[in-house]
Order: sequence, then structure tokens, then C-alpha cells
Amino acid sequence: MSDDLMFDVVVVGAGPAGLAFTRSLAGAGLSVALIEGQHEAALRDPAFDGREIALTHHSMRLLKSLGVWDRIPAAEISDLREARVLDGGSAFALTFGADGADRLGVLIPNHLIRRALFETVQGQAGIALMAGRRVTACGVGEGERRAWLDLDDGTTIRARLLVAADSRFSGVRDQLGVGVEMDRLGRSMMVCRMRHDQPHGHVATEWFDHGQTVALLPVADAEERVSSVVLTLAAPAIAGLMGLSPQAFADEMERRLKGRLTGLELVGTRHAYPLATTWSRRFAGEGFALIGDAAVGMHPVTAHGFNLGLRGQETLAKVIRSAKSGDICSGRLLARYEREHRLASWPLYRGTNALVRLFTDETPPARLARGAALRAGQATAPFKAVVKRMLTA
Ligand SMILES: Cc1cc2nc3c(=O)[nH]c(=O)nc-3n(C[C@H](O)[C@H](O)[C@H](O)COP(=O)(O)OP(=O)(O)OC[C@H]3O[C@@H](n4cnc5c(N)ncnc54)[C@H](O)[C@@H]3O)c2cc1C
Repeated sequence: MSDDLMFDVVVVGAGPAGLAFTRSLAGAGLSVALIEGQHEAALRDPAFDGREIALTHHSMRLLKSLGVWDRIPAAEISDLREARVLDGGSAFALTFGADGADRLGVLIPNHLIRRALFETVQGQAGIALMAGRRVTACGVGEGERRAWLDLDDGTTIRARLLVAADSRFSGVRDQLGVGVEMDRLGRSMMVCRMRHDQPHGHVATEWFDHGQTVALLPVADAEERVSSVVLTLAAPAIAGLMGLSPQAFADEMERRLKGRLTGLELVGTRHAYPLATTWSRRFAGEGFALIGDAAVGMHPVTAHGFNLGLRGQETLAKVIRSAKSGDICSGRLLARYEREHRLASWPLYRGTNALVRLFTDETPPARLARGAALRAGQATAPFKAVVKRMLTA
């Protein structure tokens, strides 16, 4: 008799997408294995990773329906009341307000969302959490439980459906032979919290300065004097900043912010993320599906990756819940997920990449074009409405 472990669904990766998907299958009567390389303690109490996630209204509703929202401390949720886009040294700003609503969206530290997601999955009926284990090989063959995975502890798992949620550098995607369009941008994004003199007023700023991109995101803080500072530069320049003492770093950031914020002081740790965008050539096939960053790895500048990941897992869970249990691996069924999620992702992925190209191109025509684009954007109500819908839907 085979010692292989048998499940209906096996999910690789307990990041936000894998956890949310597992949660979305609660009550569907399916046995689910969730495999994660990190140890359980790191999932139970994830460390601060610098990311402040801007959630759309749709994501907020979804987190509420999954029982995640109430587990996030209210004092850590920062309202986003206005967003401004600035270009170089120009004083002009393209602005988006809440227009009657109480807020554009919210910002929440990534590690707190992950902790809340893990709490909802823990103890869920039918779930086997396998933390501290990595997938070494996997594939999809024939038969009822056609997906197979070998883990680094010697275990073999068989399942009807294999779901890859193992990041934009997905090893499962490679093992399945699914191609990916990847752009390693040669740039890194550094994120940290900084205290400053001026109250942030819950306004987020995206500043495409010449030679650097800076985002200032309002953090929940009684005095409104702490922001998340997100700086994008060539990878070696970011490595240099990471090595500075806290005081030298604060001085350097004050110089870079050119008076936008003063009295800067580093609060906590700095984190650097090398930037790469990825678009998988397929999101699904017979016996497998890709979700989260494993399907689409967005550039973080438009703050859509997490939100898209939530949306994609919701679509896949709906498709699976609509199937008879034996059918959950059918390529025809999973093609519905692939179609719907590609349609939702494609404009955001291409649009974000085009925006990044325009706003990081330092040639004189590009500089002219982006100044004109911001002014036209401010004056064109339909354009603003479309961008705002993208930010908040
Ligand atoms: C600086 C920054 C700011 C961002 N801000 C925003 C924002 O404001 N809004 C927004 O929507 N998005 C934002 N994003 C994007 C968002 O963080 C990602 O889209 C999201 O984390 C992707 O989740 P995921 O679960 O798909 O993948 P990941 O978070 O990468 O998780 C993948 C998991 O898989 C595990 N894993 C990998 N390989 C294996 C293996 N072989 N075996 C077992 N386990 C494995 C990993 O340990 C990890 O836990 C930001 C990203 C960055 C870098």
C-alpha cells in the first residue's frame, strides 16, 4: 500500500494568497494540505516586514467576509483620505480625494494581515498545515489524484488539485513547465517607518522625482507624525542606504526628501525588496492553478499585488465550490478561473508597467510627457474616475 498522503487540494505557500484561498475553502467539504517553508511560529506571529498594504474597498469587504478583519487591531489601521501624485520638482499634484466617502482606502501593516489570516485558518476543519517543509519536486500526471509533490522531509503528497501560491519566483510554476514573462528591473525598493515634524493628515504621496521614486504613506499614529517611507533606486544605492547608521540614514533621507518632511527619525527596521515583475503564461491547467504573485507579480508602485491576489483566490474558490468534488481538477473548469483572473489582471499589470516606464524615463520627451499626463489627468474627469476606481474598487 502506498504511504503517500492523499488530499483533495494541496496549496503551496502560506503567504496572503495561499492563506486566504485556504480560508475561502472552509466548509466546502474538501481536504486541504497547506505547505509552507517557514516554521509555524513565524506564521503565527510574523515579524514586521516594512510593507504597509493599501487595501481597496473590495479587499476590505472580502477580509470581513472571511472573518479576518476583526482580528486586525483597529488602532493599527490607517485611513487614506487623499492621494497625491507629484512629478520631479514641479509644484503641481494630481490629487484623488475620498469625494464624500469617509476614506479612499486603508493602509495596514502586512504582517498584521498575515497574522490575522493565519488565525482564521488555524484549526479549520479539513486542513492539514505542513509548516517548515519545502516542495522539492512536483508535477501533474494521470488518474484521480493526479497532482503529486515531494517534500524535503521525504513525504509524498497526492491531490486532485495543486495550487501554487509560492511567490513571484514560484518553484512550483517552474516544475509544472509553465513559462513566465519576468522583468528584473535592477532596482530595489526600501521601506521603513520614519517620524517627522509635519502631521501627515492621512494623505499618501507618490513622488516620481528625477532619479528616485518616493512614496510617503500615512501610518496609524496618535500624532499623525509617522509615515512609511518607500524609496526606489538602483539596487546598489539601496544596499548602501541599508548600511548607514540610523542618524546618517535620517540625514540622507532628509536631503532626498528636499524639505517635504523634516526632523526625520528612523522608527524600527529598514527592509529592501529587489524589484521584478512577472506574468505567468498560464494561470491554470489540468490539475493545477496559480494564484497570488505566482500568477501575477505586480510592480508595487500602484499597490495592487496583494489586492489582486485576494481577488484571484476568491475567483478560484468560487469556481471550485461550483464544481462536483471529482471535477475540481478539470482543465475546463479551471479555465474559467484563468479567463476571469487574466481579464481582471491584464489592464492593471500592463498599465502599471507603462506608468513605471514613463515615470522613470529621464529623457526630455518623457519628462515633458509625464508633466502633461498629470495635468491632463487632473482636468479629465473620466480619466480620474477610472484611476480612482482602480485604486479603490
Ligand atoms: C514593498 C512592497 C509594498 C507592497 N505594497 C502593496 C500594497 O500596498 N498593496 C498591495 O495590494 N500589494 C502590495 N505589495 C505586494 C504584496 O506584498 C504581494 O503581492 C503579496 O505579498 C503576494 O502574496 P503571495 O501570497 O502571492 O506571495 P508571498 O507573500 O510571496 O508568499 C509566498 C509564500 O510561499 C512560501 N514558499 C515559497 N516557496 C515555497 C516552497 N518551495 N515550499 C513551501 N513554501 C514556499 C514562502 O515562504 C511564502 O510564505 C507590496 C510589495 C512590496 C514588496
